[in-house]
Amino acid sequence: MAQTSKSKNEAPESGIVYLVGAGPGDPGLITVKGLEKIRSADVIVYDYLAGSALIREARPDAELIYVGKKGKNHTLEQVDINELLVRKATEGKKIVRLKGGDPYVFGRGGEEAEQLAAAGIPFEVVPGVTSAVAAPAYAGIPVTHRDHASMVTFITGHEDPTKEESAIDWEVLAKNPGTLVFLMGVKNLQNISESLIKFGKSPSTPVALVRWGTLPVQASLVSTLSQIHEEALRRGFQAPAVLVVGTAVSLRDTLGWFEKKPLFGKRILVTRGREQSKKMADAIRDQGGEAVLFPTISFLPPADYAPLDEAICNIAAYDWVIFTSVNGVERFFQRFFEVQDDIRKMAGPRIGAIGPVTASEIRKRGIKVDLLAKDFLAEGVLELFPRKQVEGKRFLIPRAEKAREILPKGLTEMGGMVDVVSVYRTGLPEKANVTEIKSSLSDKKLAAVTFTSSSTVTHFVEMMKGENLTALLDGVTIASIGPVTSATVKENGLPVHVEASTYTVDGLVKALAEYFRDQSA
Ligand code: SAH
Repeated sequence: MAQTSKSKNEAPESGIVYLVGAGPGDPGLITVKGLEKIRSADVIVYDYLAGSALIREARPDAELIYVGKKGKNHTLEQVDINELLVRKATEGKKIVRLKGGDPYVFGRGGEEAEQLAAAGIPFEVVPGVTSAVAAPAYAGIPVTHRDHASMVTFITGHEDPTKEESAIDWEVLAKNPGTLVFLMGVKNLQNISESLIKFGKSPSTPVALVRWGTLPVQASLVSTLSQIHEEALRRGFQAPAVLVVGTAVSLRDTLGWFEKKPLFGKRILVTRGREQSKKMADAIRDQGGEAVLFPTISFLPPADYAPLDEAICNIAAYDWVIFTSVNGVERFFQRFFEVQDDIRKMAGPRIGAIGPVTASEIRKRGIKVDLLAKDFLAEGVLELFPRKQVEGKRFLIPRAEKAREILPKGLTEMGGMVDVVSVYRTGLPEKANVTEIKSSLSDKKLAAVTFTSSSTVTHFVEMMKGENLTALLDGVTIASIGPVTSATVKENGLPVHVEASTYTVDGLVKALAEYFRDQSA
């Protein structure tokens, strides 16, 4: 006992530093362990190349410190970074030092770890996927291959090969029969290629530059050792890129895959609410594109909970509860358990759903869906109900405050008694990057704009107020999730280029992918 109370008065427990590899850019390429560390960190110290998508995984109260290095513009000098890590750890914090690729591959991670060791600060390394392997892989180049290269060498291209005391033996490198991968070599391209040729590497050796590998903006340039410098100059090829030298580069024609994806290189605006956009962003990335989030909707509690609470208290009196959206399901059940204490109180009414995604949200709660409108529209539900199943029956429709009236109107006309209760309201988001999106649109840096409901359309138009939308969206593909949303787009004087045939987010992304695939064919 005495010991326990004594230890309470001691200095706070020492912190720990995790040197975490963020992977090369695609946020899916971080390790599971790395992601866990990011999610639980008190402090995250990160660089220019460490994925911003990963930073979003941090705890809301985590301290995020950017120490980015880009070329010579250092936000913090290396000594200051080292000092920062030691100081934060001494405060007892759990720190993630997030670095692009692998922390120990040209990341100066080794030096940071030495400083921590010297200061007696505990640390661990969570390796990452290095760009030296991943960028070639995404460009269709295996760095080793039985017929091409039985070894691979990672080299810093940062060093000037003409300097007297080079740490790199160019003669040895030139004789190296494996694949050579240079990092940080774009500026030194001429020196690198000339030095290799000078010491005997064939000028016709295939080489590739891969910029921003694994990201939707990936760009590759294939040439030969003697030509690459001029070719890169001509095309204005910029860092960050890896330079791959060796005959394995020639496999790219057969093994290229990422750059062939239908949405590759396309930036696509996602206008749905932030909470709902993750799945869509993942689907876009899966097709090789980049989702640009521009939430036009924020979800608010209903203006008055009384009607919903009353319906929940009398839930057994209803013959049917019909859900029209995932959001409706989520919010209904959240409130349900604030008012009721037992799911069995839902036992009375039968359950209807519009669309398979809404239905699966209901099933997740262990509740069977008795009726599913397969065409995802209110009209679909109406068609499924014969008049005599509606007459005199009581219906509850928990949904957004503003929504289409087709379903309640149709059921009422068929003799049903319908209570429509609001489970949420939608509003414009408080904060929005409107200026940035406007300039992306006018610079034609967005390939497509997507709308997943009529409200996303009307809110988008409202947020772009004062702009000539037709001009702003000229050349931008407009994609809609289904006919109701499309009608709203057209009412606002805009064209619809793509309409999903399955009215779900996946259906929309699929339709968009097919559209762009056809266009490039
Ligand atoms: N630790 C990192 C490398 C840091 S040095 C890793 O393991 O990947 C920075 C250099 O890495 C850049 O100059 C570039 O050559 C390379 N690099 C990092 N990310 C890259 C990417 N996504 N595509 C191509 N090269 C990349």
